[in-house]
Amino acid sequence: MTHEYKKNEELELRITDLGSEGEGIGKIEGFPFFVKGALPGDKILAGVTKAKKNYAFARLIKVIEPSPDRVEPPCHVAGRCGGCRLQGLSYEAQLKFKSDKVYNDLLRLGGVPSEKLDEIFEPIMGMDSTPLRYRNKAQYPFGKDKNGNIIYGFYAGRTHDIIPCEDCLLSSPENKDILERIVLWMKEFGIEPYDERLHTGVVRHVLIRKSFAFDEFMVCLVINAKKLPHEEKLIEKLSDVASLSYSVNTEDTNVIMGDSYTTIHGNPVIRDRIGDLIFNISPLSFYQVNPVQTEKLYKTALEYAELKGNETVWDLYCGIGTISLFLACNAKKVCGVEIVPQAIDDAKKNAENNDILNAEFFVGAAEEVLPEYYANNSSDDMIHPDVIVVDPPRKGLDSVCIDTIVKMSPERIVYVSCDPATLSRDVKIFCENGYELKRVRPCDMFPMTVHVETVCLLSKKP
Ligand code: SAH
Repeated sequence: MTHEYKKNEELELRITDLGSEGEGIGKIEGFPFFVKGALPGDKILAGVTKAKKNYAFARLIKVIEPSPDRVEPPCHVAGRCGGCRLQGLSYEAQLKFKSDKVYNDLLRLGGVPSEKLDEIFEPIMGMDSTPLRYRNKAQYPFGKDKNGNIIYGFYAGRTHDIIPCEDCLLSSPENKDILERIVLWMKEFGIEPYDERLHTGVVRHVLIRKSFAFDEFMVCLVINAKKLPHEEKLIEKLSDVASLSYSVNTEDTNVIMGDSYTTIHGNPVIRDRIGDLIFNISPLSFYQVNPVQTEKLYKTALEYAELKGNETVWDLYCGIGTISLFLACNAKKVCGVEIVPQAIDDAKKNAENNDILNAEFFVGAAEEVLPEYYANNSSDDMIHPDVIVVDPPRKGLDSVCIDTIVKMSPERIVYVSCDPATLSRDVKIFCENGYELKRVRPCDMFPMTVHVETVCLLSKKP
């Protein structure tokens, strides 16, 4: 009979894995314990906090034998902030953890045999320089501490408690000064930060984006008010930023940004360069957060697409058209699809600004736009493209989208994914529908966090 674990029971565990939230996982006779703060390789003493039928949560009482991969976390809020779960691991160990995660998901959830994976799995692309200060975007929630002082920082894991953090080591050092000036403006004019429980106050979040290529800053305040109070005074304080705006979000929601934004100073967009292309980015558009790694990711996607110059290509979930335009430079025609209208506005301007004439963009959900296009354009060669690139959010591809891709029957599908589990699920479906997994390469876009990006090539079976 299996042992039943009880609350407060103490046990020794060897941590062998990390869960999706970065918690350490240790097993006793196959029964998993999830322990926050424990790292793979650690031998620990743990106290059971909650025991379920098939798993249990436990707290870290003491590290008996530290993992050889443990390092001193560089940030003072590591462990409390929900962002950087892997700061206590050496960068090499972080890369191994991520690479193994992609491999194991493809094996277990994707049904790809290990012999096949061993043959095609390419080494993870890590950062060549110190993996800090790599982010070009940060979103700081604002609130108050117990004493009524304005605070900003990041959410603790799983909750919306704000862990104050003035200088996030993943983001630009200049952000601190910008945030201080915003706090000064709030104090001077009695502008309150948002209170999530009471749904009162004004400043909910501050978004800061930096263009690494042009050294420009974009600041957007997300407010719980119809209009920004004392707007001119904020402009005075932040006159050096390239783009200053606010976005109204008066909803009782976890979504950060509102549906639109109003520019009050400078340009509505900032520019950045990836490779030889220049991109306009507006506050509401998705834009990859790690520009150094993005270039490697896009080059890999482009390499996997094997373009000779005469191909027809779809780029689904195209954002501001970054991948689309890289592809367009090497193909006959590219069509991009994206659900956020402002991102498509950016994409069209980006094509124009880079003198790219063979890219067309559609606003809408990929799972609606693609089937409609397929049904209504029977004489068009875009319904049987050579390549389809997809880069969906974490939930992966919708089944209608997969069905249409299979019907369109491209020679190659390049799948860029930020979630190895949904990627594996979708790879399995493609493999059951006439495709073969040919290449896989993880890319570390988010050092110190548990997230990993992957590029896969699926080819139509002969
Ligand atoms: N390829 C782009 C964006 C990838 S992020 C880049 O590298 O920058 C995923 C994008 O999918 C986001 O821009 C998001 O707005 C968009 N999106 C989310 N759901 C969508 C859907 N159902 N159909 C089309 N686009 C969607």
